[in-house]
Amino acid sequence: MSHSKTEDFHNQRPLKFVLRKDEITGDEYDGQLRVEMSCGHAVDPGSLTAWCRSLMDQGHFKLCCPADINGEKCGAQWPYPEVRQCAVLNDTEQYQFEQKLALLAARSYCDFKECPSCKSLVERKELTTIRVLCTVCTSTLRATYEFCWQCLRAWKGAGTPSDHCANVGCKDPNLEVLASCTTKDLPGSEICACPSIRACPTCGLLIEHKEKCKYVVCSRCQVEFCFACLELARACQATKAGAWFKCCAKPLAPRQTHIPVWSRQGGGLWGDEVNTGHREQSHTPTV
Ligand SMILES: [Zn+2]
Ligand SMILES: [Zn+2]
Ligand SMILES: [Zn+2]
Ligand SMILES: [Zn+2]
Ligand SMILES: [Zn+2]
Repeated sequence: MSHSKTEDFHNQRPLKFVLRKDEITGDEYDGQLRVEMSCGHAVDPGSLTAWCRSLMDQGHFKLCCPADINGEKCGAQWPYPEVRQCAVLNDTEQYQFEQKLALLAARSYCDFKECPSCKSLVERKELTTIRVLCTVCTSTLRATYEFCWQCLRAWKGAGTPSDHCANVGCKDPNLEVLASCTTKDLPGSEICACPSIRACPTCGLLIEHKEKCKYVVCSRCQVEFCFACLELARACQATKAGAWFKCCAKPLAPRQTHIPVWSRQGGGLWGDEVNTGHREQSHTPTV
């Protein structure tokens, strides 16, 4: 299966096995395989998996090292691809991890902003509109107080639009970045004039292409996608077996003119793809 190929491609840092104690459980070296993490602490792949699971169960999506150094926690954040590699996650575990991390991160990044008037954190209940009610202000002012999720000013205008309010200059600055970014040829492939900045097809975070590889793991939702065709990486690879790096089955996606909105539904992120091996449709960006 082509997935292992991507694994190899991304794992520039080879796994380093060491004969040391497990810094998560504190177990002394007992002949068990231990992996040295990027922060320098050794862990057992099994306890790494269990530790990260417990972090996610407590609502954390940043996976941090718990090693105790003279009474202080190491606290280094491990990127998910590192955990995926060092914990030797199988396909099912990867799916569970990615889905959980994405949901937790979505909640934290997408759903809360500071009210421009009272500065309290307001949750956006409806992700399809930028018109948001502040209940704190509404109760102190004894009048409905709404603000614009995008320009963070008091709400102006009618309806519940998703793109801009009636305040002057209310537009998504990310769209301008996408419209004006430079293009580049992706080295080692046949992909030319690809926009150098893309909005993650799953969560909408803007990402600049830096690596050689056309597959990029989004730092916010942890979903891996193809910078050229904007399909999820697995879907892009699956459709072009053997030549997955040089070109894509689909043509180069044009500049995006719409920022994808993160789905709050767990199933919406991956659908049934894990069971069926298909990942069609769900993440073709709207252009
Ligand atoms: Zn550490
Ligand atoms: Zn308020
Ligand atoms: Zn606005
Ligand atoms: Zn993302
Ligand atoms: Zn592709």
